[in-house]
Amino acid sequence: MKIEFRKVPSNPKDFKVKFNSVEIEGIFCKMSSTLVKIDASLSGITQINCDRCGKEEDVPVNEKLDFLLSDGVYTKETDELVIEIEDSFIDFDEIIQSELSSIQSDYHICDECEQNNKTIEQEF
Ligand SMILES: [Zn+2]
Repeated sequence: MKIEFRKVPSNPKDFKVKFNSVEIEGIFCKMSSTLVKIDASLSGITQINCDRCGKEEDVPVNEKLDFLLSDGVYTKETDELVIEIEDSFIDFDEIIQSELSSIQSDYHICDECEQNNKTIEQEF
């Protein structure tokens, strides 16, 4: 789902976007003409490759997503996460994709390898 930056309402509005097997759900609102706040959570199932044996595994996703979207370069100092967008469109699919790829790049080992680990630990 894509939404034009200037069409984001000033009052918090519910949204829900499904992308493959994950869903982003929460509220968003405009804070200024170039700043939008997103307060949402990402949930569902994604596939992650095991870092040890390479097997693909379904892993539950449950991430809190709190950030600001800036239309253009954001220069002010802030403790919050600010994502800069360039074409004045908020693309929720892209937000989900980038979130998923950061989850997928985290270290992950599958159940089987986990079990093997335990067996090895017990043997020695
Ligand atoms: Zn494995």
